[in-house]
Amino acid sequence: MSRRTLQIDDVLHDYLIAHSLREHPAQTALREATASHPHAGMQISPDQGQFMALLVKLLGARRAIEIGVFTGYSALTVALALPEDGRLLACDISDEYTRVGRPFWQQARVAHKIDLHLAPALQTLDAQLAGGAAGQYDFAFIDADKTGYDAYYERCLLLLRTGGLIAIDNTLWSGSVARPARDADTAALQKLNAKLHADARVDLSLLPVGDGLTLARKR
Ligand code: SAM
Ligand code: CA
Repeated sequence: MSRRTLQIDDVLHDYLIAHSLREHPAQTALREATASHPHAGMQISPDQGQFMALLVKLLGARRAIEIGVFTGYSALTVALALPEDGRLLACDISDEYTRVGRPFWQQARVAHKIDLHLAPALQTLDAQLAGGAAGQYDFAFIDADKTGYDAYYERCLLLLRTGGLIAIDNTLWSGSVARPARDADTAALQKLNAKLHADARVDLSLLPVGDGLTLARKR
C-alpha cells in the first residue's frame, strides 16, 4: 500500500507526533500560549514546522523570508534552524498577533535573527527588491492572505538565489481546491496551483502536509 499517500487517522497522527516531534521548550510554550487564541487554527502544526526546519538546514539557508507571522511559531521554528548569523525577514501587518510571539523568540535566544516588518508584505518585499536584495535569499515561507499569494510568489522568486526554496502553505485548503470555488481565496489558490504546475522556472512538489504544502525550488 505505497502507491498513494496513506490516510492519517487520529491514532496514527498521535503515533507520528510521539515518535518524531522534537521541540525547543520555547516552541512548546508558544504553541500553548497560542492555543487559546480565537485564530489559533492559523498556526502551522508542529510536525510541519519540524519538516520546514529540516528543509532550512538541508538548504544551508542563511537568509529567509516569512510572509504571515501570526503569533510567531513558524518564525521561531525557522529562526531556530538558521545559523547564528542567519536572518529571517518576517512580514506581517498585525502588531497584536506578532507581539504574542516576541517573548518566546527571546526565550529561545533567536530574537536577534528575526527582523519583523509590520507593513503589507508586498511593500516590504518590493522595498527589498528596490534595495538590491534580488537573488540574496535561500528560503521563503508564504502563509498570509491567500489572494496575495501569487504576487508574493513572484517577488520571492526574484529574491531567491538559484536553488532556493519557496514553501507555500494551505495549497490544498481543506480539500476545497478540488471542488468548484465559492470564494476568492479558493479561486486564488486554484489559479496559483495551476500556474505552479506549469511553471518551468521551478522544480515542484505539492505535499499533503498540514493543509497542503507546495515546495517550489528555483531553477
Ligand atoms: N505562519 C503563521 C504560523 O504558523 O503561526 C500563521 C500565519 S496566519 C495564517 C496569516 C498572517 O498573515 C496573519 O498574522 C495576518 O496578520 C497576516 N497578513 C494578512 N495580510 C497580510 C499582508 N497583506 N501582509 C502581511 N501579512 C499579512
Ligand atoms: Ca497557514
